[in-house]
Amino acid sequence: MDHLPIFCQLQGRDCLLVGGGDVAERKARLLLDAGARLTVNALAFSPQFQVWAQEQMLTLVHGNFDETLLDTCWLAIAATDDDAVNQQVSAAAEARRIFCNVVDAPRQASFIMPSIIDRSPLMVAVSSGGTSPVLARLLREKLESVLPQHLGQVASYAGKLRQRVKSAFATIGERRRFWEKFFVNDRLAQSLANQDIAAVERITETLLSEPLDHRGEVVLVGAGPGDAGLLTLKGLQQIQQADVVVYDRLVSDEIMNLVRRDADRVFVGKRAGYHCVPQEEINQILLREAQRGKRVVRLKGGDPFIFGRGGEELETLCHAGIPFSVVPGITAASGCSAYSGIPLTHRDYAQSVRLVTGHLKTGGELDWENLAAEKQTLVFYMGLNQATNIQHNLVAFGMSGDMPVALVENGTAVKQRVVAGTLSQLSELAQQVESPALIIVGRVVALRDKLNWFSSH
Ligand code: SAH
Repeated sequence: MDHLPIFCQLQGRDCLLVGGGDVAERKARLLLDAGARLTVNALAFSPQFQVWAQEQMLTLVHGNFDETLLDTCWLAIAATDDDAVNQQVSAAAEARRIFCNVVDAPRQASFIMPSIIDRSPLMVAVSSGGTSPVLARLLREKLESVLPQHLGQVASYAGKLRQRVKSAFATIGERRRFWEKFFVNDRLAQSLANQDIAAVERITETLLSEPLDHRGEVVLVGAGPGDAGLLTLKGLQQIQQADVVVYDRLVSDEIMNLVRRDADRVFVGKRAGYHCVPQEEINQILLREAQRGKRVVRLKGGDPFIFGRGGEELETLCHAGIPFSVVPGITAASGCSAYSGIPLTHRDYAQSVRLVTGHLKTGGELDWENLAAEKQTLVFYMGLNQATNIQHNLVAFGMSGDMPVALVENGTAVKQRVVAGTLSQLSELAQQVESPALIIVGRVVALRDKLNWFSSH
């Protein structure tokens, strides 16, 4: 180990920063956040330093580096753009046995500053020992994305609850199990973030009073249309905490690779018209796993509440009193629209957009008259084998045969294909496309000629 990571208590302690430019400003911000009593010595100061000085948040000392300023200090940072001065600061600090950081020169420094993920009071620090700040930064970005913003609030709240938990649970093992349950409770975290005190208290009471081994819950997560980058941060956090992931065929391998390695994976693949596992059985799987105390993620393509039967699955859980939550996903219409360069609305061509199912329950019929109206965009999900029907009905109810249409196959994935033409060709075009595909009908489709950025086909 080249450096010992420590977290310093700087509250009210004198620190010296030498330098008054942008880099110094960043360091000053950190020292001020940590509550240091800060003196800044430089030949010139950026406007931000003047503001801080006016607000009496720090003291400015104009002029050459004055080493006597170090006498009362606990810590120093040399952040000028002059190597010689930085070295001077470092040597003067060394002589006084004061830890000194030298910006961009980790070898001259007696301490280095890590990249941090600040979820105060929770703090994660990453360092490459000065060898590769870019690598440390990339890692920091990764961690930023998987650590929820409200983790700090959860940590503070945990601090307040410690005494109660101590008296509620006799053994260390029980307390540990309580805390595990506490920290994965998404609804609690959300209520803390919303400052919903009543909900926080209610959830806390339940956590403290219910049996420790009973902690099953289901999170319905939308995986987005294909490109794994379109999974939300919250969705990622959920699939990394899951004990069991129940997923469809529409969920890409890329996304399944992000699931926690030791989670159980249950495939319940189904596509329009071809149900591998009947819906009722999926409902029962979710229920059974949650009742066994598992944290279950039901991962669905797109958004779970848009033609996803998310509602039906939750009703069963609701009935059985299993706690659940929902994380939205980017629905196929949004994904395909963006990745094929077809805006769904446009001030000149479409004031509304309608998401329509092409897969009707037996006996159902669509409101074709309204669908054929002008100035809107229609997006048909599960419409591929209904293309002929869609074409005939829209034309029969007055839509022009030259209305532009596009079929987007495997939208947002690397293998995305877009086939475009007019409404009168829809039935033919559908023959060239495979599932999953969306049918987009409307004047906005023509904008694709200009706005397509993602692929050449
Ligand atoms: N809940 C999903 C929709 C499920 S219904 C969502 O919000 O996107 C399944 C239908 O969605 C498919 O028949 C197809 O019409 C559409 N679909 C899903 N993913 C798609 C993709 N990557 N490209 C094109 N269409 C897609």
